[in-house]
Amino acid sequence: MKNNLSNLAITLALGLILSGCSSSESDSSASGGIKVVAAMYPLEFVAKAIGGDMVSVENFTPPGVEPHDLELTPSQVVELDAADLLLYISGFQPALEEAAQQSAPANSLDLLSVDGLNLLTATEDGHNDGAEDVNEGEEAHSDEEMVNDPHFWLDPARLIVVAKAVASKLSEVNPENSEAFESNLAAFVTELEALDAKFTTGLATCERDLIVTSHAAFGYLADAYGLSQEAIAGLSPESEPTPKRLNEIGKEAKADGTTTIFFETLASPKVAQTLANDLNIESAVLDPIEGISEGQTYFSVMESNLEALRKALSCK
Ligand SMILES: [Zn+2]
Repeated sequence: MKNNLSNLAITLALGLILSGCSSSESDSSASGGIKVVAAMYPLEFVAKAIGGDMVSVENFTPPGVEPHDLELTPSQVVELDAADLLLYISGFQPALEEAAQQSAPANSLDLLSVDGLNLLTATEDGHNDGAEDVNEGEEAHSDEEMVNDPHFWLDPARLIVVAKAVASKLSEVNPENSEAFESNLAAFVTELEALDAKFTTGLATCERDLIVTSHAAFGYLADAYGLSQEAIAGLSPESEPTPKRLNEIGKEAKADGTTTIFFETLASPKVAQTLANDLNIESAVLDPIEGISEGQTYFSVMESNLEALRKALSCK
């Protein structure tokens, strides 16, 4: 009997300890007083890097989902209404923007509207409006509608510009913590600068500069490091290439001596791999970081991307 009682006491004590732990845990996520909704992973990554535990960040694109055509659940719409800050990319996820107009979050920041970002525009089939990029037969693009290329996060220097804008927005929403946001920003910028330097050095001396990608996500990266991109699909992974377009890319890849066709983790690799087979060359992953796998971060995936690029382009 005595034994049972002391067991009971232990069980109760353990229960208290455990519930103590779990309640303090849920407190710490809730105590991130500022509720930030991030449209997709790279924005979540930036918000967490700067907000630390002063913010709680909800990524609206579920793991494993390709974010271009995000559909919102009813509970996400409710959450959006309660958010202190929405971070989004205009023109990228129409369903999110529509919902944001109906159930207005307290503040929102369109990251394509950030000053100094040096936006690239592109046709839907993914041709960036780079001056160097106008080959004969491509004049037709001037008739096509140019849209903003949303994939700025793949250039670390542009991500720094965005991170600074997120930090000042967070300070505006939550001035008490502005010093902490600024110091988190400084550390984050240092890391991004180091990454940028690695890319600059790693891609400085390569035998080729053409990257054939699955969808046109790498325009900013190409712009930053002197590469040129040919994308099988366009700005969005769902756009299907015509046989004519595939044929063109195949010819260009052959002429360039391309060794590798890149595919992605979230979009289907089928077309890229078929093209690689047809050309009898390799295929490899180049990750646009539109989502993230367990255990990875923006930085780890960017490092893998750099290795994949260096291998494919035979860099020294
Ligand atoms: Zn994309």
